[in-house]
Amino acid sequence: MNSLQDLFSHNLCIRCTGRIFASVDTGLTDYERGLKLAFTYKAFFGHVEIPESCYICKGIFKNLGMYLNMAVDAISSMEYDTFLIGSKFDPDILLEEQKIQNKYGNKGESIKKEFNREFGKYFSEHTGKEFSKNPDILIEINTIYDSVNLIVRPLYIYGTYTKKRRDIPQTRWINGTGDSIESLIGEVLLKYSAGKNYKLHGSGREDVDVMMLGNGREFVIEIDEPVYRNINLNEFMDEVNGSGSGILISDLEFSDKDKIREIKEAAYDKVYMATLESDEEISREKLESTAMAFKNLVISQRTPVRVIGNRADLIRKKEIKYINIEDIHDKEATIKICSQSGTYIKELINGDNGRTVPSMSSMYGRELRVKSLDVIKIMR
Ligand SMILES: [Zn+2]
Repeated sequence: MNSLQDLFSHNLCIRCTGRIFASVDTGLTDYERGLKLAFTYKAFFGHVEIPESCYICKGIFKNLGMYLNMAVDAISSMEYDTFLIGSKFDPDILLEEQKIQNKYGNKGESIKKEFNREFGKYFSEHTGKEFSKNPDILIEINTIYDSVNLIVRPLYIYGTYTKKRRDIPQTRWINGTGDSIESLIGEVLLKYSAGKNYKLHGSGREDVDVMMLGNGREFVIEIDEPVYRNINLNEFMDEVNGSGSGILISDLEFSDKDKIREIKEAAYDKVYMATLESDEEISREKLESTAMAFKNLVISQRTPVRVIGNRADLIRKKEIKYINIEDIHDKEATIKICSQSGTYIKELINGDNGRTVPSMSSMYGRELRVKSLDVIKIMR
């Protein structure tokens, strides 16, 4: 049989016929291309009965208005600027369509692709929103059940925090009660964004009993399924900072998922202020020579006993940049330490029973205990 006659034997509509050759003449719509083919057929073979819609499309392109109403309805309460259309079609129909297209050299496009494109244009015209490959909201149209599903991109806000207290962790405990830096920031943002949940990603973390001072630590807070995205960052910041929680945030800006990895991989040197204590009066001479010995010294730290179970038990080499003595008073001394990212400072001082080598205690020749510790600057 002549292949043109064969083409019209499938009882496809004009549009679905035209789509079989979508890549042959891209200057035309699938419908226009189908019309040309029908005209050619008629010119050679006379009249042909072409259905208005067919078993592939089931007239779906005449129902864009219905899908628009459904999508607009579902999305009406959400704040967004960009969207992307996805769709689900009956897999049997997609397979059937592919079989026909294969017969003619696989030069077509699937109905799914045409629908996503055409509905996207239609949706944009009616809502004024922009199409994007990294959208605020992915609108999934299920054409089997005529339903709409929204996949909302999380909201990411970057900032830095300082912590002026020695009793809260950075993130929530798994069974979740009690304050954390994460909850003190996250609960406020949850209110502003009307999202479902929040997660704080820190550029490293300090211990519960360590204050984070100076220029603060970088973080990204992530909100799942935000209804509102255009948060007033100053209002959000003022509310967190005005709560009297001891957590202050600043440098806020809208961010994205990539920023999380960037801040997690950042390895900044840090400056600490520590107060040490000994059982007997501290010798200035011995402490000074101890501090001198650590200038640009690389130490070996086996994973501390207190964190084993959470981290792999291995030996890390870390460089201590300098140790300065700030003050000595009887059995106590205040020192400033600058070290490479990831150094365990408490263990640098107390030695962790020989797991950190050398330690200040081993150099000094007597046990030195950490009375208090604060991060005072992150060298970024
Ligand atoms: Zn059709």
